[in-house]
Amino acid sequence: MQTYANFTVGGALSVNAHGHYIGYGPLVSSVRAILLVLADGRIAEASRTENAELFRAAIGGYGAVGIVTEVELDLVPNTRVERPVIKMTVDEYGDWFDQNVGGRRDVVFHNFDLYPPDYGSGRAVNWIETALPANSPRLRGRNSAHRLSRYLM
Ligand SMILES: Cc1cc2nc3c(=O)[nH]c(=O)nc-3n(C[C@H](O)[C@H](O)[C@H](O)COP(=O)(O)OP(=O)(O)OC[C@H]3O[C@@H](n4cnc5c(N)ncnc54)[C@H](O)[C@@H]3O)c2cc1C
Repeated sequence: MQTYANFTVGGALSVNAHGHYIGYGPLVSSVRAILLVLADGRIAEASRTENAELFRAAIGGYGAVGIVTEVELDLVPNTRVERPVIKMTVDEYGDWFDQNVGGRRDVVFHNFDLYPPDYGSGRAVNWIETALPANSPRLRGRNSAHRLSRYLM
């Protein structure tokens, strides 16, 4: 999964998007097979074993090879996560990462967002699997007001 969830599957495949999952590579590693419509109108299935050259060219190919119309993906279970945030300096981050992210199987996603202008500190965000119910005050109804966000935007 990418940082946001508003992209199409075809668009994410065509740039071979990277996610922020811990321990997983770019999207291509989750793709079993694709169905392509080629420039001459032919339809071709491509995977690592069938039309492998097309498979490698189409994923990350920005649509130049053909239009992806179907995809067979590896999936993982959808789990609830909690999202603790902690600010620290760049010098502190390496040790903190080793203790709180690396090797932990319950940390699903991780970001370290650097603060401009000097990029000497940042914000570490972990998304950690949880059994807690989804009752965060951040979950809002579709029509509820977001006055502060709207004002800032
Ligand atoms: C706010 C933001 C956050 C982002 N975060 C990440 C991130 O975390 N990781 C990351 O890797 N990228 C990230 N990106 C980049 C994003 O993954 C790409 O821009 C992605 O291509 C967007 O998908 P889309 O559905 O909008 O594609 P589009 O912009 O519509 O298309 C992108 C390309 O894919 C081609 N294409 C689209 N659909 C198909 C199809 N069905 N078959 C063949 N070709 C097709 C188009 O021709 C075009 O070349 C981010 C972008 C934004 C704006």
